[in-house]
Amino acid sequence: MPLIARRMSHLGTENAFKLGDDIRRCVDRGMDVIRFNLGAPDFRSAPHLNRVASAALDAGRSGYCDPAGILPFRQAIADHVRRTRGVDVTPERVVVTPGAKPPIGYTLQTYVDEGDEVVYPSPGFPIYESWVRFVGAVPVPLSLSDDRDFAFTADDLAALVTERTKLIILCSPSNPTGGVLSREELAGIAELVRARCRPDVRIYSDEIYEQILFDGLEHESIASHPGMPERTVIASGHSKGFAMTGWRLGWAVLPTEEEAAIFKQININIMSCVPPFLQEAGAAAYEDPASAVEVRRMVDAFEKRRNWIVPALNEVPGMRCRTPKGAFYVFPDVSGVCERLGVYEACERIHKVGRGRRTTPAGMLQMFLLHRYGVASMDRASFGRIGAGGQDFLRLSIANGMDDIRRGVDRIVAAAKDAQGFAEFVEDEDGRALFG
Ligand code: PLP
Repeated sequence: MPLIARRMSHLGTENAFKLGDDIRRCVDRGMDVIRFNLGAPDFRSAPHLNRVASAALDAGRSGYCDPAGILPFRQAIADHVRRTRGVDVTPERVVVTPGAKPPIGYTLQTYVDEGDEVVYPSPGFPIYESWVRFVGAVPVPLSLSDDRDFAFTADDLAALVTERTKLIILCSPSNPTGGVLSREELAGIAELVRARCRPDVRIYSDEIYEQILFDGLEHESIASHPGMPERTVIASGHSKGFAMTGWRLGWAVLPTEEEAAIFKQININIMSCVPPFLQEAGAAAYEDPASAVEVRRMVDAFEKRRNWIVPALNEVPGMRCRTPKGAFYVFPDVSGVCERLGVYEACERIHKVGRGRRTTPAGMLQMFLLHRYGVASMDRASFGRIGAGGQDFLRLSIANGMDDIRRGVDRIVAAAKDAQGFAEFVEDEDGRALFG
């Protein structure tokens, strides 16, 4: 009998957290690392929200609370969803979770049986693929391409939907691409779902970046379209838009109260409840007009940085970068850089001698940038491994100050010319340890 249950071998991970060890090693050696890998805003949670949480603690509201979430917070979420999506929601259909990550696993566990098919965006948030595999479902990645700004249409989805499809995952604005689905694209997807999917097929709409949109765009949700509220799990939270990643405030709106009761039951089984004093601040984030000012300030900063970095990256020989419409990432195609540096030959060479089986060209470039130039980024394969072959992209987070962004791009420019340095890196101690 094995020590570790077999199912654990199917659980994936989020490399953004794993890369921390590599970065620490570089920092311990005295390197200055620019953290383009981060998925967290470089802004603090707003003072008016911090005060609400402190006051609630001082008033003694520090015990267990309703596992579905305190009613004032669930009411504030329901009002927010009605205001922003035009969907009527009662608090009984809202469940508060510790961040927007848990509802992904809750959804896979609640709706998907072994052998069911799950369609999800690729590149996409890696936790989708992790849970799809963990529950024994069949992964059906919907491949997104940069020449279409990482969006897709009902026709793309239609090619993947079958009788066995049980769940379709959407994420707009998207991590890692910054792609956004338009109202028209969502209308087409909704029409396809109404026409082709049984009523028990669910849409998981990950809207965690709902506040972070550029060029005057407004957030659009699949749930705003006819027939969709009764099929859609809307998930979002405070991590990104309110710069509150460490607070662990997330939520899901379920199609029915019965389904919400299951999410509540999972909360009970795993963590009982989200701390009530944090939820009070969570409600204030939606209700206090001061929040909108803070969100605007942050989104304007992201937009300025985007406007600077995209042309700068497009100047790097071999790099091609689309302009993201939302979130706080850029996702350039680096295949030309890999070509110039000899990454493809190096990758082939190490595979031939049985080294670095899971290493991809973009992954080698990622490690070269980190270990030799002090630039931390995320490679394409970190956002869904299935079907990622032949796609060489890096995700760079613009949740960094302009000075760091400028210094980081200068380093990328230098690295992209350093074929000699790359060749030496692959064969030296670091390279052998990383790709051995
Ligand atoms: N969904 C997407 C698309 C994300 O990018 C993230 C975080 O990076 C999450 C969910 C998880 O958010 P949270 O930190 O609130 O759990």
